[in-house]
Amino acid sequence: MPSVARGTKYDVIVVGGGHNGLVNAAYLAKAGKKVLVLERRHVLGGAACTEEIFPGFKFSVCSYVVSLLRPEIIRDLDLPRHGLEILPLDGTFTPMPNGDHLWRVNDHGKTHREIARHSRVDAEAYDEFGKAMQAMCRFVKPILSMIPPDPATLNPKELMKVLFIGRRFQGMSSEDKYNQVQLMTMSAIDFLDQWFETDVLKATMSASGIIGTFLGVRSPGTAYVLLHHYMGEIDGAFRAWGFARGGTGAISNAIADAAREAGAEIRTEAPIAKILVKNDGKNGRAVGVVLGNGDEIYADVISSSVDPRLTFTKMIEPGNLPDEFMEGVNRYKFRGSSGKVNMALDGLPDFKCMPGVGAHLRGAMSISPSVEYMEKAYDEAKYGHWSSHPYIDMVIPTLTDTSLAPPGKHILSCFVQYAPYKLAPGLDWDTEKEKFGDNVVNTIAEYAPNIRNIILHRQVVTPLDLEREWGLTEGNIFQGELSLEQLFFLRPVAGWAQFRSPIKNLYMCGSATHPGGGIMGAPGRLAALEILKDGAA
Ligand SMILES: Cc1cc2nc3c(=O)[nH]c(=O)nc-3n(C[C@H](O)[C@H](O)[C@H](O)COP(=O)(O)OP(=O)(O)OC[C@H]3O[C@@H](n4cnc5c(N)ncnc54)[C@H](O)[C@@H]3O)c2cc1C
Repeated sequence: MPSVARGTKYDVIVVGGGHNGLVNAAYLAKAGKKVLVLERRHVLGGAACTEEIFPGFKFSVCSYVVSLLRPEIIRDLDLPRHGLEILPLDGTFTPMPNGDHLWRVNDHGKTHREIARHSRVDAEAYDEFGKAMQAMCRFVKPILSMIPPDPATLNPKELMKVLFIGRRFQGMSSEDKYNQVQLMTMSAIDFLDQWFETDVLKATMSASGIIGTFLGVRSPGTAYVLLHHYMGEIDGAFRAWGFARGGTGAISNAIADAAREAGAEIRTEAPIAKILVKNDGKNGRAVGVVLGNGDEIYADVISSSVDPRLTFTKMIEPGNLPDEFMEGVNRYKFRGSSGKVNMALDGLPDFKCMPGVGAHLRGAMSISPSVEYMEKAYDEAKYGHWSSHPYIDMVIPTLTDTSLAPPGKHILSCFVQYAPYKLAPGLDWDTEKEKFGDNVVNTIAEYAPNIRNIILHRQVVTPLDLEREWGLTEGNIFQGELSLEQLFFLRPVAGWAQFRSPIKNLYMCGSATHPGGGIMGAPGRLAALEILKDGAA
């Protein structure tokens, strides 16, 4: 990587080269700003990275599927030209302990027949549910692309935004209004109970409600997280999830390419130790950064894509921020609850309930056999233990993208919940790590016993690893829980949801800002638009 010329001053320095930092840099560079991205790791992408962990096997080490990436970003940055290619992920297969299964695919007729096999009533309700969720998504989607209002001010511009949301709400049918309020307040299971009777269907669908939260499927507020995961689109199709060819790192690399083409400089292995603030004291101005090696680099604007705890308590000298703001930062919840187990395989898992190789292996495979199973997994985590019977979301990307492993070999990516960051007294993640990995293999083996014989290599990623290696505080995969009290105009701190901070020219542009986590790029883009609007750089 080219080193920064001595004495060079930038318009903007972006802290962190995760996909949001890169989106932020790309928009600013395209607007003519002189931008430098500084990434701590040896590889770009943050939680959206691809790494060859074992020779020949390229893992999407953290995030593994994409859907939420904003279409306007794909368009504005012309990402397909920079190598972005999204391949469809078809369906979700849930094996059951009794030898049955539930297999939903993108083909409407097939899914209808499959659900009807479990319950005719649910098959009808499934269509209605899909329509209702689409209506909810239509309501929420414009909000993803808007700067959150500050409802506490009388500024007409802010009030107009509140009015805009109010008008959209008013425009919905009564049914949709009730659904929307229920989604905002209910648990995923209570919400799904209103529609369905099939236990395994509810269990699998509720899983989207708990991802990245330290909540159970019966905890209020999880219904909204369900919607968050429903919201994505690929080529305009709601709810479609896909693989990026080359792994999720390919998304970050395409964005980085667009940013470089627009003139941004990007450095890896360049950890930022401090953000420099001029005029120590309240409401100073950010003027540059100090790298881990002591080098100082100056810029008019610092845009931080790392979470508020790292930005404001680790990188800023104490005394520079108002107490009230710091109270908000300290209250912001992380509570990591997930881990990842990535495996290099010599063959394919053979499910007892659907033997052989088939299309069911090409989509997501979900270990979520019952609502009780899901809730019990949470019960253990509440008291500081990883779930002995965890929820696991598995994908085999090599069935869609053969470039990720040597011929005939495969990658199995397992997202696992719950893996609580804070373990019970006497337990620590360094000791628990491989036991946790063993338990994931054993759990899968209950459904696909051959798994034990086909593992060539295994990588276990604990919440502590996510914190140490990826800078995700307390291992939260979304840089802070996606719970209702931390969303929209409350993310990350009430009164500071518009990407600015109390320090002049210090902005936030990562997943800890609106609209939150996932490979979405929206925080990076919105923050760039605000920086440009302020004329700060
Ligand atoms: C295990 C896991 C599974 C996930 N699965 C999915 C999924 O399948 N689909 C999906 O859409 N989302 C998923 N997510 C969430 C998604 O990956 C993240 O929300 C998103 O990638 C965060 O992007 P970001 O750019 O905001 O932040 P980050 O990716 O956290 O980027 C921040 C960057 O800052 C760098 N950094 C930290 N400290 C410093 C420093 N001092 N100096 C310089 N740089 C620094 C970090 O190394 C990192 O590269 C998953 C996340 C995890 C962890």
